[in-house]
Amino acid sequence: MLFDCGEGTQRQFQKSSLSYMQISKIFISHFHGDHFLGLPGLFQTMQLNDRKEPLHVYGPSKMISLTQELLSLGYFRPSYEIVAHEVKNGDQLSFDGYAIDVLQVKHGVPCLAYCLQEDMRPGKFNKPKALELGIPEGPLFSRLQRGNCVTLQDGRVITPETVLGSPRAGRKIVYSGDTRPCEAMISFADHADVLIHDATFDKSLEDIAGSYGHTTAAQAALIAKQAEVQRLFLVHISPRYLDYKVLEGEARNIFPHTHVPKDLQEYEIKLKK
Ligand SMILES: [Zn+2]
Ligand SMILES: [Zn+2]
Repeated sequence: MLFDCGEGTQRQFQKSSLSYMQISKIFISHFHGDHFLGLPGLFQTMQLNDRKEPLHVYGPSKMISLTQELLSLGYFRPSYEIVAHEVKNGDQLSFDGYAIDVLQVKHGVPCLAYCLQEDMRPGKFNKPKALELGIPEGPLFSRLQRGNCVTLQDGRVITPETVLGSPRAGRKIVYSGDTRPCEAMISFADHADVLIHDATFDKSLEDIAGSYGHTTAAQAALIAKQAEVQRLFLVHISPRYLDYKVLEGEARNIFPHTHVPKDLQEYEIKLKK
């Protein structure tokens, strides 16, 4: 999954440990150039690399007509399917093992935040207990781990709850798009593992931030604190800041687990034990 695709996205992919050919879904927050102008180049490069798998692109209203326009540039004829989807506030898109929730944010033009939420995972398997109950190690173990009942040779039926702990939450990642501070973001990002939030300006430019539809680092930190997220990543930093420490510092005063990620930085979100 790729969230937003500004100009230069494919160049950044080439420098990273990832491949743009692995992308199956792109989620666009809004149609300001720095968030979608990478699409036509990426579509065409995927074609050059002989892509066959379909590519799904999600975004606010106009996503379908805009994709048609991007696909009609030059003599481009895609050899793979590019499917555009328009999504709106409150939508939940269900996929295999996870869902994407959609929130309308405040940016002057239609703009969406996305929340990636993994499905609940079964509880931890209690192997000693399973052995104690006389369940033979092997296929019956995996059937129980997947949440199915099993019948032993002596006729006893073992329910998965007997050997599984309570279900564990999947990971939750929220991407804000460009936005002014948005009250609804607090419940949308509730207890997220990671909140990736607009922090275009520092707090001395709060008025400017508001009038351009952006958030300050301090405001983003307050949202992270109220939403009780694990970690906050500040993004969309104005190029006026040569040193991000100012933004990181003001945010950390409010929410200590704040970072301004460097380009190409990787961060692993561990599954909960
Ligand atoms: Zn914007
Ligand atoms: Zn932007």
